[in-house]
Amino acid sequence: MILYPHVDVNEKGHLTLGGVDCLSLASEYGTPLYLIDTDAVRENCRIYREAMRKYFGVDSYPAYASKALCFSGIYPVIKEEGLGADCVSGGEIYTALMAGFPAEKIFFHGSNKTRREICEALDARIGCFVVDNEEELELLNDLARERGVVQNILLRITPGIDPHTHKYVSTGRIDSKFGSAIPTGAAESIVASALKKNNLNLEGFHSHIGSQIFDAEPFVKEAEVLATFMADMNEKYGCGCTVLDLGGGIGVPYTKYDRRVDRAAVIKEMAEALKAVFRERGTELPRVILEPGRSIVADAGVTLYTVGSVKRLPGMRTYVSVDGGMTDDPRYALYSSRYTAVIADRACEEASELVTIAGRCCESGDLLGEELELQIPKAGDILAFLTTGAYNYSMASNYNRVPRPPIVTVGKGKADLAVMRESYCDLIKNDIL
Ligand SMILES: *Cc1c(COP(=O)(O)O)cnc(C)c1O
Repeated sequence: MILYPHVDVNEKGHLTLGGVDCLSLASEYGTPLYLIDTDAVRENCRIYREAMRKYFGVDSYPAYASKALCFSGIYPVIKEEGLGADCVSGGEIYTALMAGFPAEKIFFHGSNKTRREICEALDARIGCFVVDNEEELELLNDLARERGVVQNILLRITPGIDPHTHKYVSTGRIDSKFGSAIPTGAAESIVASALKKNNLNLEGFHSHIGSQIFDAEPFVKEAEVLATFMADMNEKYGCGCTVLDLGGGIGVPYTKYDRRVDRAAVIKEMAEALKAVFRERGTELPRVILEPGRSIVADAGVTLYTVGSVKRLPGMRTYVSVDGGMTDDPRYALYSSRYTAVIADRACEEASELVTIAGRCCESGDLLGEELELQIPKAGDILAFLTTGAYNYSMASNYNRVPRPPIVTVGKGKADLAVMRESYCDLIKNDIL
């Protein structure tokens, strides 16, 4: 019934995460409360790290996509597990650096990096910029020249793959705000421009085809397309590129209806596809980077809420109101994402009622889920949402001036406060009276 190995039920019948009783955490830290099991994060890191070494070679490694969950305490874990970090803003880079993450293992992404962010990242000597467009290439080269440095870059390429259809519509994904498309010739043209820039060193290519993908097939196709493109460019321009960064996107199960992806098997299939291309071209296998985000942190997270009221509307639905909502987890409001929820002290009881979980914002779209199977709820219950490690805290807002919840990490059987609950004071700290 419980989806993940890290979530269990103890002898009192209480839900646990990483062996720690969720009810005692709720009473100690209050609700809403984000919990992150760092042992689970480590386990996910190791799955990628080991499979990538085995199938791609010892120089290949995963870079954690920070946007899935970014707070200072995540970076020591990621660093200790030997991952790089993929950052998409000056704020994420700052967080990583302040937490002691090594600059040389940071990849800087984004389709519109500002001049200020580029300067900051150059000054911090981050390892690699993933350049999106011609204007960025020009600006980055100028700013690198001013500093007398040669910056390593990858170019973001749009391979023209739609991961959510079985037929690869080679035009569908060309319509993207990210990168340069191969089929239109834009990709080759930005390669030619990059090679003319004296303060940039083109190491290779990057692509990211989407998120919450459950099949190996789109990743295999992506690996083939990018590998072929790299081999073509190396032949035509002699650019000597040796790095392929194939992005993130492996899916995780949120409900019992979702499949669990065998990540090592996907990596193995991608490696076989790459090897076939490079064998045919008679060149060596490149260094491969993958950028998992969701599949590193999602199943390590649980969010706890307190039920305020239960409204049973006969013949319609049952609204269960909680003390959080779209401000701490906007994913249902944004994407109608489904979750598994349990009442934390009755997790073993049958989930016999179908409910709608409503958030506290003055907004009828502030829901956390509809038609969710739940144990019969009542006011005062602690409601646990599972698999909330990714794209919850990182997407949280202060809408309705709701302070953001704290993060408590659990690991090796003990709990630590990692991010404090926001105070009213925090809410007005930038306001000028
Ligand atoms: C979002 C993103 C990722 C991570 O995607 P997940 O689905 O969380 O694994 C990796 N790379 C880039 C460039 C991204 O934008």
